[in-house]
Order: sequence, then structure tokens, then C-alpha cells
Amino acid sequence: MFAARTDNGSITAYKTGKVLFQGHSPDVEAKKWGATVQKSKPKKEITHEYSPPESLFTSSHIGSDEAGTGDFFGPMTVAAAYVPEEKISKLKELGVRDSKNLKDDKIKVIAKEIIRLGIPYSLIVLHNKKYNRLQQNGWTQGKMKTILHHQVIAKVSEKIAPEQPAGILIDQFSEPSSYLRHLKSETKEIQKNVYFITKAESYSIAVAAASIIARTSFLHQMDKLSEQTGVLLPKGAAKKVDQAASNIIKKDGPEALGTCAKTHFANTKKAEAYL
Ligand code: MN
Repeated sequence: MFAARTDNGSITAYKTGKVLFQGHSPDVEAKKWGATVQKSKPKKEITHEYSPPESLFTSSHIGSDEAGTGDFFGPMTVAAAYVPEEKISKLKELGVRDSKNLKDDKIKVIAKEIIRLGIPYSLIVLHNKKYNRLQQNGWTQGKMKTILHHQVIAKVSEKIAPEQPAGILIDQFSEPSSYLRHLKSETKEIQKNVYFITKAESYSIAVAAASIIARTSFLHQMDKLSEQTGVLLPKGAAKKVDQAASNIIKKDGPEALGTCAKTHFANTKKAEAYL
């Protein structure tokens, strides 16, 4: 109905009768108008028994993250990295942060730096052939992620033994209960001191490092697959992906997708429209 900006912030009035005061001093503005102020509650952080303690982020810890799960072409890659306390600030200086906020070229450069610093890490590439086989055997992406996160964490833990991290942080991709259920279905048990939080890479340098390693591996694999197929494979799952998929089918037949793409994605069907 009405919107205005004042020195105190902004006022927005809605048809419902609600008036919203926002900005740096909404209280001051609202009082001027004799409004009864109903402060919005601070957003509740989703906590559960696997929420990490604040202290973890500044201690030696392992972090894990994956890449390629939303991309039609290319593998799923999962990495875990161990960052000892004394290397946290150095990694921050290098610009280690969420790989989603970094350009591909920059990611590759930072990945080299992480490795040069001798950060212990483990990386698993789930190639398309195996991914598709697991998917056809009833594995969800959630189960694949679970098993791969579990494996890379185990490998890094072995590498740094007998050193014990303060904890292990997984960039949360499902409810912890689902993670436990998937592990159980493969007769595996969760490691000690495992924590989950969403957007973990924004809190944890170890998860950020893992995300960069996983993303770099995904990018390399995409370059390799483009070379092998002779078709420049786009990332993501948007329209240009469908076009590229149809080019591959035209060139090498529909089976060819099985070695370079996640064939259960809707893109497989959509590609047929271009044939
Ligand atoms: Mn993630």
C-alpha cells in the first residue's frame, strides 16, 4: 500500500494492516507513529545433537564437503581436509572460503596452495559409470554422499593418526538421522566427534578447504570428459546441458551418456527433444 524511506530506515505498509519498520533504528521511527512495536524474533539456528560447538572452528579439525551433485555431467567428488589450528589464519589469508563464492580459475589456484601447505586431505571421485550403477541399484544421492563423506573422513583420520582432531565437521546435506540410517544400511558406524551444520564452509576453514579440493577435482574431471567425448560439457543442469547431451547421443549413441553424465537427471529425457 505504501512505502517510504526516512532517516531512521524504511516504512512499508501492507494491505493486511501490517506496517513494517526496517533499517538501523526502526524503534525510533515506529514510536513516532505511536505504533506498538512487535520485534521480529531473531532467526532460530537449527540445532540438534550434532551441532558443532563454537570452539571447533578455531581448533584443529577435519572438514568435509562435496561437489558435482547438481551437475548433469561429470562425477560426484567428495573431499575431507584436516586443518591444524596453527594453519587456520594462513589458509584464511590465502582466501580459502566457500568455493561457491569463488571463480573456477581462482579455485584451482587456491587448491594448489592448500596442497603446497601440506594440508592432509582425502578425495574420492565417484565416476559416472559407478554413480549410475549405484543409482540403478536404489542408492539415493543422499546415500552416496553419506558413504563417501564417511570414507574420506576415515582416510584423513588415518593419515593424521595418532593425532586427534578436536572434531569432524560435515557440511550438512541431510538430517543427521538420515546420515546414520545410510551408514547403518552399509553396516558402518559414525566416527567419534562428528558434527553437522548447514553452510559449514562459512564457519569452518577445514570445510572450505575440502570444498575447494572437491570442486577443483570436479573441474579437472569435467575438462577430461570434454576432451574424451569431444563435446564441451557445460556445468549445471540448465538448457545448454540438454543440447550438449543430445550432441553426445548423436555422435556416440545413448549409452555414451552413461560414462559422462548422471543419467537419472531429467536432462536425459530433455535431450531427446533435440535429436
Ligand atoms: Mn556442501
